[in-house]
Amino acid sequence: MMLLQHSDSDSIQPVIIKCSLLRRLIAVLTAPLVHRVAAVIVPVALLIIVDLALFARGRTEPQAEVESPSLVDVMVELESESEPPATRPTTPLLREYAHTVRHGETLLTLLTQQPLSHNEALAASRAMGTLLDPRRLRPGHELLFRYWEDDPQTIYSIAVRISPERRIEIERSEDGTFDATEIVMPLTPVPVVIRSQIHGSLYGSGMAAGLDPNLLHAMIQLYSFDVDFQRDVRSGDEFAVLFEEYYDEDGNWVRSGAMLAAELVLHDRTLRMYRFNGDEGPDYFDPAGRTVRKTLLRTPIEGARLTSGFGRRDHPILGYSHLHPGLDFAAPIGTPINAAGDGVVEAVRNTSGFGIHVILRHANGFRTLYAHMSSAARGIRTGARVNQGQVIGYVGMSGMTTGPHLHYEVHLNGAPINPASIEFPPGRTLRGDELERFQQNRRQLEHILLGPTHDPTLS
Ligand SMILES: [Zn+2]
Repeated sequence: MMLLQHSDSDSIQPVIIKCSLLRRLIAVLTAPLVHRVAAVIVPVALLIIVDLALFARGRTEPQAEVESPSLVDVMVELESESEPPATRPTTPLLREYAHTVRHGETLLTLLTQQPLSHNEALAASRAMGTLLDPRRLRPGHELLFRYWEDDPQTIYSIAVRISPERRIEIERSEDGTFDATEIVMPLTPVPVVIRSQIHGSLYGSGMAAGLDPNLLHAMIQLYSFDVDFQRDVRSGDEFAVLFEEYYDEDGNWVRSGAMLAAELVLHDRTLRMYRFNGDEGPDYFDPAGRTVRKTLLRTPIEGARLTSGFGRRDHPILGYSHLHPGLDFAAPIGTPINAAGDGVVEAVRNTSGFGIHVILRHANGFRTLYAHMSSAARGIRTGARVNQGQVIGYVGMSGMTTGPHLHYEVHLNGAPINPASIEFPPGRTLRGDELERFQQNRRQLEHILLGPTHDPTLS
């Protein structure tokens, strides 16, 4: 707990509700990660982490509601765990009761319902207002009222938790006024490993394993630089993800953090990636320290079906044989199309053959073309900069086509090449000190991802 602003430095000892067993457990288990020291987490502990996290998630989904202990629980804890300060043996205990804000209740109306005089209620409301906009108090927020056991008619302090990490507290000072304090409660990260076999798609298997959809999307996008999901992934292949779950002080799950490491075990190769906060900010790297991101995405569209590959074929409309210089992806009209790489818009045109199409110019002599769009995206005009993955237009059937699809071409130094067979050089490779730090970090992550039974000499 960190006090941002401490007002009342009086000798009154606040009673601290001691941590529950769960919190202690989390604190013990996460200590190595918090301190970024090589961790030795025994298998039993790791199992507990996973079970605990899944349990806590299941309990609080779909929303990160903050469960507060009931009044009875709090009383029991206070009675059983609080130790009267040794220096002041006669100090009475602090008691508390909670009120959950209901629709239509304001801070002032709530305060006037407590054992406070009108002036005290006003003073308390004003003090609270110095750190909390009263309009931010919403139904569902919980107010905690504390009083000394021997003086239940005098409110000693009022606390409101406005987010899992922030609490505003006002405390009665010696002269009877109230002082406000903001308390920031840091969330505790808990490492979680989810490992599962793939049956059907990686997306479906990840969802079935309980992975956060955002995390799953991020993982799939990162693997899509090296993996053609339609061709390379088979049933029985395996994936593992290491990420963090954040818990509040009471052990309630709050949210998932970023992916720290991942493994994809395919029938012919194993691909691992690790998050590393290097000199250019956080990114994902392979075990050799090469960035996972490449110049171009493997496929510039998600959830589409490859209907025509690169090479010679019969033209469906014109009837003669020709070279199909790109890939066709069938997808519903309106499906977003992503820029395959960082670059500049070279042209946005509407022609009889390609219909509405966009050409992007990238580094290293690459150009990409996206045809038969229903429309280009807002802001996509000649000369505009685009980022990899940015939506540049939408699937349509403009131009010469028999159905809605994306026709996608990659050109290298002016000639069309097969997008499925390009070996891209990595965008960035870690060297020197940075590489050393990465390798140190990687070994720690790998230890958690693969488990302590993993023999590092085998990888
Ligand atoms: Zn085509």
